[in-house]
Amino acid sequence: MCGIIGIYGNPEAATLAYLGLYAQQHRGQEGAGIVSMDGAVVHRHMGEGLVSEVYHDPADLKRLRGTSAIGHTRYSTTGGLDTKNVGPLLFNVRNEPVSIAHNGNLVNLTALRSKLQAEGAIFQTTTDTELLVHLLARGPEEALADRLPRALEQVEGAYSLLILSPEGLLVARDPHGWRPLAIGKLKETWVLASETCALDLIGAEELREVEPGEILVIDGKGLRTVTHLPPGQLAHCIFEYIYFSRPDSRIYGANVDKMRRRLGNALAREAPAPTADIVIAVPDSSNTAAIGYAQESGLRHDIGLIRNHYVGRSFIRPQQDLRDLTVKLKFNPVRGVLEGKEVVVVDDSIVRGTTMRSLVKLLRQAGVKKVHVRVSSPPIHHSCYFGLDFPTSEELIAGTRTSAAIATFLGVDSLAYLSMAGMLASMDHDPGHFCTACFSGEYPVEIHDVPRKDMFETSSSPASVELPAG
Ligand code: SF4
Repeated sequence: MCGIIGIYGNPEAATLAYLGLYAQQHRGQEGAGIVSMDGAVVHRHMGEGLVSEVYHDPADLKRLRGTSAIGHTRYSTTGGLDTKNVGPLLFNVRNEPVSIAHNGNLVNLTALRSKLQAEGAIFQTTTDTELLVHLLARGPEEALADRLPRALEQVEGAYSLLILSPEGLLVARDPHGWRPLAIGKLKETWVLASETCALDLIGAEELREVEPGEILVIDGKGLRTVTHLPPGQLAHCIFEYIYFSRPDSRIYGANVDKMRRRLGNALAREAPAPTADIVIAVPDSSNTAAIGYAQESGLRHDIGLIRNHYVGRSFIRPQQDLRDLTVKLKFNPVRGVLEGKEVVVVDDSIVRGTTMRSLVKLLRQAGVKKVHVRVSSPPIHHSCYFGLDFPTSEELIAGTRTSAAIATFLGVDSLAYLSMAGMLASMDHDPGHFCTACFSGEYPVEIHDVPRKDMFETSSSPASVELPAG
């Protein structure tokens, strides 16, 4: 997934980008980075970890001078956990700095990367994003904006892109519109962000989304559309509404909170639990769907699980074997709310099932009488190749088991998922405008070579090479 932010035309560009990354921390916690541009002079500070960990010294931000900046929070889907893969990537292209922030995942990587390597390209990272830079470096056209359409016509998959160079800020979104990308304005400053919650934080007004297939340039003359790529079948990731985006964001032209509540409403209609006493959420991503379930069912909504938001990367696992420690660290049941109750637990999705299984144990230990798990999306049967790091079908719990077998594995009294029809009917859009491949197996584009996260780890630059921060 990843969160991206772009600022153009503000003396505090890096600070605004930093705030935009903070608002989009939920989209990627593996690394964060900002590249700023001061005329043709480029500055970068990036590193592994949360935004607060990467930017813990005010001097780091101060060094990022310039009136334009792009930022990135990393959630890896291609390329390992390594500083060299943290965005925005920065290269020297035809003697000019070019930096790129990418949200999404490309799917026709293997053949393209092999072809470029055969032509002499030397890859510095193991990400899919770098491929775009190599394509962008080629071609007879002088301006990057003129070379970008041809570069993008060669790639398939999901991309919302920000490319910063002395020419200005280039912006692009794939023709399927997989990932969101909003355009905002803060007085004279242009702001681009994966989610509108970033615009809200810095006080920018949302103007519109970048259209699927649209390529834009922002420079001293303002913002203008360069071109549209040949149109493709729309494939907005429906999982953005189910889980990924923050409920206070607007994406694909609709409010995430509203869509998520409707998913909860539909789930309550399809899978009631009339004997239950209360409805609780698996916090935080399921909070809104649980409220929707409670509203529709008339059951009382309560806070039965408390989430610890402060489990950092530096947590040291104790030597002794504490069972279900990872889940216990993250969630604690509220005994006073749960004891002696029959409880509906609403979760947005179940991937491997191990977290839910541990949670159910915690709930039982807290004295819950009966556990009814309700999931506000259909069973996930298939991997995602467009920016979500799902495991293979064999590792997905619904990839190999029936709902009854999953209920037994989880140790619940009942389990129900929202149907595909119920999910799609909850949306504002035409059902055909969504990607639902992880549920249906119907991929909007042909997957020639199944991408893997570690696909280039051994054949490319050594994992021990690290780029300096700053
Ligand atoms: Fe989203 Fe699922 Fe499609 Fe991936 S496969 S883009 S998670 S809907």
